Amino acid sequence: MDLYDILGVERDAGLPDIRRAYRRLARKFHPGINPGDREAHARFGQITAAFETLSDPERRRAYDAGVSEDPRAADFSFGFEGFDFSVDVTSEHQASTFGDLFADVLARSAGPSAAAGQEAGADLQSSLSVSFQEAMTGTEQYVALTRQAPCRTCAGSGALPVDPVTCAGCQGRGQVRTARGHMVFTKPCEACRGTGQRCETTCRSCRGEGLESRAESVGVHVPAGVTDEAQVRIPGRGQAGRRGGRAGDLILSVRVRPDPLFRREGDDLHLVVPVALHEAALGAKIDIPTFDGPVRLRVPPGTQSGQRLRLRERGAPSLRTGGRGDLFVEVRLVLPTLLDERSKELVREFGQINGGNVRRGLWDDQL
Ligand SMILES: [Zn+2]
Ligand SMILES: [Zn+2]
Repeated sequence: MDLYDILGVERDAGLPDIRRAYRRLARKFHPGINPGDREAHARFGQITAAFETLSDPERRRAYDAGVSEDPRAADFSFGFEGFDFSVDVTSEHQASTFGDLFADVLARSAGPSAAAGQEAGADLQSSLSVSFQEAMTGTEQYVALTRQAPCRTCAGSGALPVDPVTCAGCQGRGQVRTARGHMVFTKPCEACRGTGQRCETTCRSCRGEGLESRAESVGVHVPAGVTDEAQVRIPGRGQAGRRGGRAGDLILSVRVRPDPLFRREGDDLHLVVPVALHEAALGAKIDIPTFDGPVRLRVPPGTQSGQRLRLRERGAPSLRTGGRGDLFVEVRLVLPTLLDERSKELVREFGQINGGNVRRGLWDDQL
């Protein structure tokens, strides 16, 4: 069949057109999308073979010149029919003791099973940095990473369907002989599952690994209240498994950047509020920032420097309880720098009126 017809492109189609046609058709006939559908499998093999020839300038020239017809673009057929996969190898030897002696040989020839060779993917570690504000409110972030993902060309199988060819592992006999001392065993060929023919070729994109390194951007929901050094686990976004094995998890270490104003301790927040002498002495209402917006704080008359005021449930969202911590406001008295004579006079006068010795009773008897 004509390779251009297979891809549905004109004979003078450029590489981008060929690529586009391949991608469109591959998406439709991909074995991963059509499990068990032989016709789709065969079409996918044709499409891939046609693409491989037409996307390679040298092979395309040769094809156009009629030098070589890609044999894999011919019609496809499959040779699995009639073959009994459930070969009981122990019955071939008629002696169960051999089973113990040559357990490794027998184990390897025990025949294919769906789960054979499955290998779970490894977990993937990465990190994520969020601002203090984002840690309070929660955020959505994208983490750029490179992970092993199923190969897109072969849907992770590591193989592509081709026209049946004689198996090189057993020269088409379907069986291989293994010598152990004086004993010679015959067992079904693993490479061709005993059929003597190979209907698959190793995928070139992934060299049969079934995996490809892919740069991805993974969307992550960072919950409100997340703490510095917390770990967020995203199931299934680690390295892909091999041969149908499950993917590992993505484990993100969260770094919460410090805030210039707020400090977190458990689920409580701490904020230092500078207060002027007259505000502390006479009492005042002061607007302070919180993560719920500004809040008016009442500073009672006679508040001392270092005194802490507590605002309930204005702290960090708690991932443990679902509630909120408290906000502790530490009042810090800021004394004015007295530059003018008038201010100095007032303070002096203030001292005379309120004379009292603030150290009275502390160490009177030692002086
Ligand atoms: Zn073979
Ligand atoms: Zn592949």
